[in-house]
Amino acid sequence: VLNSVLLAGELELVTREVRGRRVLAAIAGRDWGFDAAAFADAVSSIDAFQRGFFEDEGRAFLLAALVPVGRPAKGLVSWHGRALTQSFTLRIPPGSELDEAMQLLIAHELFHSWTRNALAPAARSDIARWFSEGFTEFYARRLLARSGAITRPEWLSSLNYTLADYFSSAARNAPNSAIGAGRLHDQDLHRLPYLRGEIIALLVDRAIHRASQGRASLDDLMRELVRGARAKGQRYSTEDLLQRIAHWAGDASAASVRAIVERGESPRLDPRLFEPCFELYGIQAGPFDPGFDLERSVADWIVHDVREGSVAWQMGLREGWDLLGFRVDQDQDGRRVSLHLRADQAEFWFIYPPIGECRVEVPQLRLREGVDPGACTDA
Ligand SMILES: [Zn+2]
Repeated sequence: VLNSVLLAGELELVTREVRGRRVLAAIAGRDWGFDAAAFADAVSSIDAFQRGFFEDEGRAFLLAALVPVGRPAKGLVSWHGRALTQSFTLRIPPGSELDEAMQLLIAHELFHSWTRNALAPAARSDIARWFSEGFTEFYARRLLARSGAITRPEWLSSLNYTLADYFSSAARNAPNSAIGAGRLHDQDLHRLPYLRGEIIALLVDRAIHRASQGRASLDDLMRELVRGARAKGQRYSTEDLLQRIAHWAGDASAASVRAIVERGESPRLDPRLFEPCFELYGIQAGPFDPGFDLERSVADWIVHDVREGSVAWQMGLREGWDLLGFRVDQDQDGRRVSLHLRADQAEFWFIYPPIGECRVEVPQLRLREGVDPGACTDA
């Protein structure tokens, strides 16, 4: 029962047939920026592409549920998805659009069909979250880009966002063993396996590429894992995964993945790693710091714990104001927080850069000059 979904109330149901399986989309609420059919189509096409990737023709049934939670707001922080047995549920503020962020969330939850079922870790523990969450993030984005659901520039900018997030994370050097207990009350630790795992997927993909002179990639390793799981019911521990990485990418790569995962070392990026398509360059970024307790404030929609000296405080944000909505964007100069506020009977948008102290240089990727973007399908 823990892994099942119970839905009640007024629902709109739409069914689709995808590679021999029935997909049932169930939408609660009416205030969406799209209709039930559009949601069902998005889920079906992402599902079809992912299952094509693994050549999966299983006849299982899929339930995709969308439930409005909270009040209309824009912002990634309040979005939740959960993948369960033959189903997933998205709990999202009403009014949200079926945009790139929602597609990524759908793709993430769908990819858990593999990383939580066929490729479930051997032991039920937090240890392998770098794989189950991070590789899921990597493939959600990669397969959306390959299918054309998101554009190349969208793919690159969200990958760069992850690079900046990871290399400026205050938790970056935490060992894997610290994540399990700490992640429940530390947002940076909670995010870490997603970011760290995605960077590892990116590095291993390139390492396999290099070791095979361009003939293989991480895709081959993933398909091999799924075949092993299907044929022999294999389950994977971190040791098994490191062994497969060593097989495909070489011992040195496996050793550096172990150092990143287990000891929390920062990966060193070889400047030539992403040739011939992409090159690395550095930007200055600080750890993400909204300057107040965003999570607590979103829980009751009142601004809490504004920290004296933070950028938001210096620009005038104060305790106790009504929070009507918020969003976090990335633009050329870095991240930007927009708060929709009400104070002294006035409503207004308050915009500022959520930059903490101690800025660091973080790596970013860009297309090399003179390269044909059409020929650069994957980083
Ligand atoms: Zn997940």
